[in-house]
Amino acid sequence: MQKKRVVLNYPSHLTDQPVISRLIKNYDLEINILRGWITPREQGRLVLEITGKRPALEAGMNYLKEMGVETQPLAQDVRWHEDRCTHCSACISICPTKALDIDRKRMEVSFHKDRCIACEGCIPVCPYQAMEILF
Ligand code: SF4
Ligand code: SF4
Repeated sequence: MQKKRVVLNYPSHLTDQPVISRLIKNYDLEINILRGWITPREQGRLVLEITGKRPALEAGMNYLKEMGVETQPLAQDVRWHEDRCTHCSACISICPTKALDIDRKRMEVSFHKDRCIACEGCIPVCPYQAMEILF
């Protein structure tokens, strides 16, 4: 089984279509909606964690493309500005997935994009605006 975290951008004409339920039903994928904004007659956006066998995942992603839904990896939309980070560790206990982690011996914080679920928990606690979510 493979897991992907992706951001979906919906054109306005698809916001009332059962795109996600078809993805689950027709491609045997598990979908976890991490975040979502869909406004009638406007573009919508969803952050999904999709789990399934590799061929099913590929077929599901092709289906989204054919439907006109743009997808991009979640990691592209979450940024850790290392130059602003003072390694104060205020974010460590907040992050639910250990995407922000600390080496206790060296007191050095690191960011692991692949673990981030874009929950935004770190945004208000970071005093130096070192974390940014671009949606
Ligand atoms: S957005 Fe959430 S999961 Fe991602 S680094 Fe911040 S606290 Fe961790
Ligand atoms: S709260 Fe901000 S400055 Fe402090 S360790 Fe986390 S990312 Fe770095």
